[in-house]
Amino acid sequence: PRILVTGGSGFLGGTVVDTLLSRGYLVVTTMRADRPNVSASQLTYAIVKDIAQLDAFDEAVQQNPPLDAVIHTASPFHYRIEDVKRDMLDPAVNGTVGVLQSIRKYAPSVKKVAITSSFAAMYNNVNKPVGSTYSEQDWNPVTWETALDPENAAGQAGYRTSKALAEKAAWEFMEKEKPGFTLTSLNPTLIFGPVAANTASLENLNTSNARFLDFITGKVKDKCPPTGSLFWVDVRDTALAHVLAIEKDEAAGKRYFLCASPFCNVDLVEIIAESFPKYKDLLPKGDALELGRYPGSGPPYKVDHSRSVNELGLKYRTLKESVEDTVKSIEVLLEKS
Ligand code: NDP
Repeated sequence: PRILVTGGSGFLGGTVVDTLLSRGYLVVTTMRADRPNVSASQLTYAIVKDIAQLDAFDEAVQQNPPLDAVIHTASPFHYRIEDVKRDMLDPAVNGTVGVLQSIRKYAPSVKKVAITSSFAAMYNNVNKPVGSTYSEQDWNPVTWETALDPENAAGQAGYRTSKALAEKAAWEFMEKEKPGFTLTSLNPTLIFGPVAANTASLENLNTSNARFLDFITGKVKDKCPPTGSLFWVDVRDTALAHVLAIEKDEAAGKRYFLCASPFCNVDLVEIIAESFPKYKDLLPKGDALELGRYPGSGPPYKVDHSRSVNELGLKYRTLKESVEDTVKSIEVLLEKS
């Protein structure tokens, strides 16, 4: 089978491509720019410059031999937002609706589509009581109107709303258009794990792994930052879930919440100190570590990832394995730079 993966230059997209190749698929991946180092006999690439344009994927979905499925991972994930509509909402929402529209118009051979959504599309800080459990039932209550409110338009909030609006728009498209393919959304929490082999340099290090670079280079030695999102999942498990979503018929029409466990930055620091003693003097300790603890006595919410375990058969990696492999992969980038 032949699969299109959008965003193959990214942390998750690159890992999805690797997972598909290792399972024998033929893969086409979209990139914004030429990457001549991307070559393998089962892999080709298509240039898609600006996913904010609704017709951006019209050409890429028309492949010969034709595509069987599409995995859409491309979406901006950073906190450098100047104009939330231009920088976040348009590429996230139009990228998602655009790819679905292009498939419907030009790729009738495609039967299954999986999109990368996020825990951000579930996170409900308006009326979710502390102590309750998150699952696929939960929705971020954001609307276009609240997303454009300057209060929500910067930093993490701007990113989160882009993911929520994109996933909502995808399900609305399915409802309205009833296309000849099924949709599955994958909703990962913060993703850690080895950076994809195609990561060119430290400058391309993705947002969710950036804290590991800060830890091992001593940047936050005097003040551990607060943890932020308190749940994590490994990139390899997340990538496999995307592939299983297009392999398993029962995944059609569903969301899957992908979460390994809760964590706080102190856990990361402790694992790094134990597994890589050479970094001990560069890591925050004592009072400098305080901000990295759980606020209160633990995470304010519980998570239910049972659908991903029972239906996709996902087995989640441990935090120790993920942290060790992440650090090793960043060491390779540090050597290159
Ligand atoms: P990366 O930044 O590594 O990858 C993002 C990908 O999207 C890159 O291929 C990037 O291309 C592409 N992209 C971004 N903006 C545009 C644009 N305007 N036009 C064309 N391509 C664009 O991030 P991740 O791998 O972490 O993110 C992948 C997906 O996973 C996203 O949908 C993200 O929201 C989601 N996600 C990530 C989580 C995490 O913790 N990492 C958690 C939950 C969801 P280029 O390389 O050219 O910049």
